[in-house]
Amino acid sequence: MAGAVNPDTEARAMFFMITPNESSFQKVEDVPQYVQQATPFFVGLIVLELVVGFLKTGAPVVTLSDGLTSVSAGMISRIPLLFMRGCELTAYMFVWDRYRLLELPWDSAWTWWIAFLCVDFCYYWVHRLAHEVSFMWAAHQVHHSSEYYNLTTALRQSLTQQFTSWIFYLPMALIAPPAVFAVHIQLNFLYQFWIHTELIKNLGPLEWVLNTPTHHKVHHGRNSYCIDKNYGGILIIWDRLFGTFAAEKDKVVFGLVSPINTFEILHVQLHYYLYLGRRSTTFKTISDKCLTFINGPSWKPGKPRLGDHLDNPKLTGQEVPHDPSWSLPLQMYVIIHFLLALGTYQDAFDNKMTLSQFNMLGMTGYVLLTLTSIGFLIDQRPRAAVLEMLRCVLMVTMQRYGYMKPLLPTLAVTTQAFVSLSLLYWALRSFSQMFSIRKKTD
Ligand SMILES: [Zn+2]
Ligand SMILES: [Zn+2]
Repeated sequence: MAGAVNPDTEARAMFFMITPNESSFQKVEDVPQYVQQATPFFVGLIVLELVVGFLKTGAPVVTLSDGLTSVSAGMISRIPLLFMRGCELTAYMFVWDRYRLLELPWDSAWTWWIAFLCVDFCYYWVHRLAHEVSFMWAAHQVHHSSEYYNLTTALRQSLTQQFTSWIFYLPMALIAPPAVFAVHIQLNFLYQFWIHTELIKNLGPLEWVLNTPTHHKVHHGRNSYCIDKNYGGILIIWDRLFGTFAAEKDKVVFGLVSPINTFEILHVQLHYYLYLGRRSTTFKTISDKCLTFINGPSWKPGKPRLGDHLDNPKLTGQEVPHDPSWSLPLQMYVIIHFLLALGTYQDAFDNKMTLSQFNMLGMTGYVLLTLTSIGFLIDQRPRAAVLEMLRCVLMVTMQRYGYMKPLLPTLAVTTQAFVSLSLLYWALRSFSQMFSIRKKTD
């Protein structure tokens, strides 16, 4: 896809305030990377929400542990794009090239609006089945695993969902050019960012047609009345049409029915697949074993396809999100190392056409290891010190061979010293841990 889009257009694209005239392209290569260029707007709006939220409520609307986990999930979800074109667009182009029935003109406003409706309609079904089919829920539960509802939650995306969602957009490929699809799949994603906030209340008549912060808030609830409701992307009319709409009533309690109580990022991404595997072995018949993956997450043998939501744990409205306390110096340490990894991540995306596969794999490995290790530190796991020590060894090696940039060019020496001191600290922590374990066993 093409590169730069001006900041004014990008800002409007975040809210779907963009015209067909400025976002119609003939070739996929000409389509701007709206999502990739949205990073400054994501950051700006998250900071704005934090400030306004603090002024309004007197408390931060996001915690460091949860916010970092959400942003980390967003980073991980986009790592496949370093190595390949997105699954959705690749499959779409394959069908368009071979099986298209007609070619809607790429430069017509009609095509643009038809594509908008089709993408949003397909998204409704992708999203609905992601909740109603357990093996798809295993991917999508990542997005629902935060017990908070703020703009960082929007970035908490699944690594694996993209490997199934592409199927749902293929009917569109029979009529609409790939470049039009490539625009709308991005605009649909961007629109869904700003609706993840509790600071915006009722939007009046817009609530009838659009998916709004209040409607999507219900979607993120684990109260009985919220489960399997409000699947819409940009429009809420699909939920009203297909009977899945629910308005906000009781106080919404956010997150999964059974909270995961961890910030370890690979666990957040993959734990439900393991759970499904284990769960299927508890059933005797082959059909029940298979239905574990195909029916809804609440399904049990003898129950309807989606299970009975009344079986879910009862809520009191007094639930407190998982938020382990950790020291301020450790929080500062984690923020600095997260920013260093974010720099490498951005570097990989900016230079993916020129970097070798070996470099790319190395940089990706470093980013993944950093995000994993941060989760271990927040969770205060016993092995956190050893993992962090090994990660610091990797960082020192990367610095030695020039694969890691400092946060700012003027901070090169400071960053190097900081990484070396980090290694020394975690090495001492690991050895003292090993020594005390040995002493105990003696
Ligand atoms: Zn959902
Ligand atoms: Zn959401």
